[in-house]
Amino acid sequence: MSSLIASEVARRRTFAIISHPDAGKTTLTEKLLLFAGAIQIAGSVKARKASRHASSDWMEIEKQRGISVASSVMQMEYRDCVINLLDTPGHQDFSEDTYRVLTAVDAALMVIDAANGVEPQTIRLLQVCRARNTPIITFINKLDREVQEPLNLLSEIEAHLGMDAVPFSWPVGMGRSFGGVFDIRRDRMRVFRAGQERRSDDDDLIEGRNNPEIAQRFGDAFAKANDEIELIEAAAPEFDHAAFLAGKQTPVFFGSAINNFGVQEVLDALVDLAPPPGPREAVQRLVQPDEPKFSGVVFKVQANMDPAHRDRVAFVRVSSGEFNRGMRLKVSRTGKEIRPNNVVSFLSQRRELVEQAYAGDVIGIPNHGVLHLGDVLTEGENLQFTGLPFFAPELFQAVEVKDPLRTKQLRTGLTQLGEEGAIQVFRPIAAGGALLLGAVGQLQFEVVAHRLKTEYGVEARMMSSRYSLARWITAGDAKTLQKFIDSNAANIAYDVVEAPAFLASSQAQLRVVQELYPDITFHTMREHG
Ligand code: GDP
Repeated sequence: MSSLIASEVARRRTFAIISHPDAGKTTLTEKLLLFAGAIQIAGSVKARKASRHASSDWMEIEKQRGISVASSVMQMEYRDCVINLLDTPGHQDFSEDTYRVLTAVDAALMVIDAANGVEPQTIRLLQVCRARNTPIITFINKLDREVQEPLNLLSEIEAHLGMDAVPFSWPVGMGRSFGGVFDIRRDRMRVFRAGQERRSDDDDLIEGRNNPEIAQRFGDAFAKANDEIELIEAAAPEFDHAAFLAGKQTPVFFGSAINNFGVQEVLDALVDLAPPPGPREAVQRLVQPDEPKFSGVVFKVQANMDPAHRDRVAFVRVSSGEFNRGMRLKVSRTGKEIRPNNVVSFLSQRRELVEQAYAGDVIGIPNHGVLHLGDVLTEGENLQFTGLPFFAPELFQAVEVKDPLRTKQLRTGLTQLGEEGAIQVFRPIAAGGALLLGAVGQLQFEVVAHRLKTEYGVEARMMSSRYSLARWITAGDAKTLQKFIDSNAANIAYDVVEAPAFLASSQAQLRVVQELYPDITFHTMREHG
């Protein structure tokens, strides 16, 4: 075991930022980068959002609907740590993509709009975090507005998360009377000043809760906050780091991202509280992050990030060892060897050639379809990691090409978009059956139709389908499975990795078939590998 690898792993922090749309995720991301010194000018994440729109047509959809379709990765150095921040699409129709991003992180930062409290999309994401025991840090945003009572927000979080919320800071006033936040643990108040360009060095701090200056300057707002803090100290549990790491407690911070307020505390919490990369469970064995040999998993594939080059970038989360530019890597699924030279990292948002990467880092490997979602890369060992989920679609549409001469382009486009996870593509075995698209959210169909047109020059016709659910099927032995497939051919389709699925038009139909064939297992989720 190399001590260099161990010390590089120890200083990694990899987290996802999650929220309901409009809670302030983009703003906070930008401010985290600003405070870490990764960008000089506030506004560049927004600018990046804008330039992405400009450079890639399909992102128009994102702009039009004000939602974030694609997730992205940013790396920054802060104090002695390398922080990898993975953005997630907030819109529920893209939750599958988000779930997969959550498999690649060690912690999550949840942003809550203090006026709206815990919103539906946040709840779904939290369920995924909870299922994986991902530690969560909570940031309650927009205290510069008239918002909900902080005590109410805390109980809402506790109710939805099913975990204890432990405030690290507490707001003094809100909206017009917002005076700042009191740092409960350091026993000092950070006074609020509006402004976007301010950094931490010009902070106005007042030491001590009993300091008469606070009461003098903030009167009633402070008296109220003081009572609330006393209440919390008496009633709320002590912060317990082990309970946080186990996903049983969340530290809570208050602030206003747009005013750069409360951001420093969150950044420090990421370094001080969030865990470094831990071991990862593979089918074969437990993989330690500081093992000398490299391994990593493709958790996301994005096509055509750069429209000038029709490339696809596979996002790989490093699980162990050291990645070096030019090294040979084996794809476990196919046994093929690749030797990528133009692997990129995402330091301060620029795509930069990566020289080295360690567990927790995300590297981007441009390729032309060699790498699929869920693929494992190693230095030769055959490894499969579990847990990258595909969910059985709940909506189906049949797809045909308007111009039959472009059938090939349609297939290419759908294969690529399917491999990227933008949509699930099923090929029914029934002769003459049009390809079927399966989605978790309606918006996915629109994005796919738009991308087929702009990226592949295909006008696709989407038609309603008689199917309303799919189940992947397996059996104890291949013969039993094949027999089932043969006798139900009209309802069988294969997905992009040739996994067979049974398609039904109703729950009732599915139940009948399940009773008829007790030897067949019907799965609502397919784990890659
Ligand atoms: P996202 O959809 O979660 O990425 O949210 P954005 O970061 O795009 O923010 C949504 C809106 O809230 C934008 O208009 C922001 O300017 C605004 N916003 C973000 N943070 C704050 C804040 O602290 N106070 C106020 N008043 N508005 C904010």
